[in-house]
Amino acid sequence: MTSLVIAEHDNASIKPATLNTVTAAVACGGDVHVLVAGVGAAAAAAAAAQIAGVSKVIHADGASLKNGLAENVAAQVLALVGNSAPGYSHILFPATAGGKNVAPRVAATLDVAQISDTTKVVSADTFERPIYAGNAIATVQSGDATKVITVRTTGFDAAAATGGSAAVETVAAAADAGKSRFVGSEIARNDRPELTAAKIIVSGGRALGSAEKFAQVITPLADRLGAAIGASRAAVDAGYAANDLQVGQTGKIVAPQLYIAAGISGAIQHLAGMKDSTVIVAINKDPEAPIFSVADYGLEADLFTAVPEWVGAA
Ligand SMILES: Cc1cc2nc3c(=O)[nH]c(=O)nc-3n(C[C@H](O)[C@H](O)[C@H](O)COP(=O)(O)OP(=O)(O)OC[C@H]3O[C@@H](n4cnc5c(N)ncnc54)[C@H](O)[C@@H]3O)c2cc1C
Repeated sequence: MTSLVIAEHDNASIKPATLNTVTAAVACGGDVHVLVAGVGAAAAAAAAAQIAGVSKVIHADGASLKNGLAENVAAQVLALVGNSAPGYSHILFPATAGGKNVAPRVAATLDVAQISDTTKVVSADTFERPIYAGNAIATVQSGDATKVITVRTTGFDAAAATGGSAAVETVAAAADAGKSRFVGSEIARNDRPELTAAKIIVSGGRALGSAEKFAQVITPLADRLGAAIGASRAAVDAGYAANDLQVGQTGKIVAPQLYIAAGISGAIQHLAGMKDSTVIVAINKDPEAPIFSVADYGLEADLFTAVPEWVGAA
């Protein structure tokens, strides 16, 4: 039994979501291979070889893989699955935007059911995954020969990034599928920790009332704590915060050590994205706000007074 993990990387280094996905692959049993598909990605492949628990890194390098186009990465994965003997028992992707773009293409071509957003590996063929915005956990058993899995990274500890010594095998890059082309990208520059990897997150909701107030109130607290900034969907939809800061069912799933929710009511779709945080602090002026039902510490207060006071005292 051998699992194949599809690495997320920037050609130079491995992104943290890959480490959690390796842990899920190890739990499936058997050997763990990691595919690093990119261009000029030798450094990322070398980094993948250091991950504890990985026995082989497959490094595919070529122009077709330059921008991580889903069609081409899927073709690369399928080329490996076709060539591997006795074949991969599990193919695992992090449940990130990138992984969720490629996995269904692989599953559909192999004619197997995808197992999405896995939070626990019960055994090699049985997995847990949240449903109904995380209000119920489904246990899913797959009879498919190859299990195509996306991994909810907050459900698994990160594998150690060093300590391994896997062999790196170079394979030819898959041909360009010719179905899509890269036009351009707009990368939001952010000096803060990445939301899904942050240890502390300060999130603001609709109560902030404007983008200016959001920046005035939330940013100083995040600066003080060295935290990432998050937001509710209502705050994002109203233009108070950028789209990529949204936490929740249709945003990012996070599980920091400390999550501070200021002026967020705690709708189930928001809770679905943050309720696995270790410690939750809620600031809300409504004592009946549902966020208090998941909060470890609740402060019933006006955030426009409480947050600046906190920043002053910190
Ligand atoms: C399919 C679907 C997917 C969704 N996905 C997401 C998602 O991914 N993420 C997400 O967040 N939402 C999501 N939503 C929306 C979700 O249902 C809520 O509408 C949203 O989370 C509400 O955001 P909020 O808590 O900021 O706003 P509100 O619900 O309006 O809450 C504002 C809170 O601020 C408090 N408040 C007001 N003034 C102050 C003050 N001065 N000081 C302190 N507290 C104050 C109020 O008491 C209230 O509790 C989704 C909805 C649907 C239908």
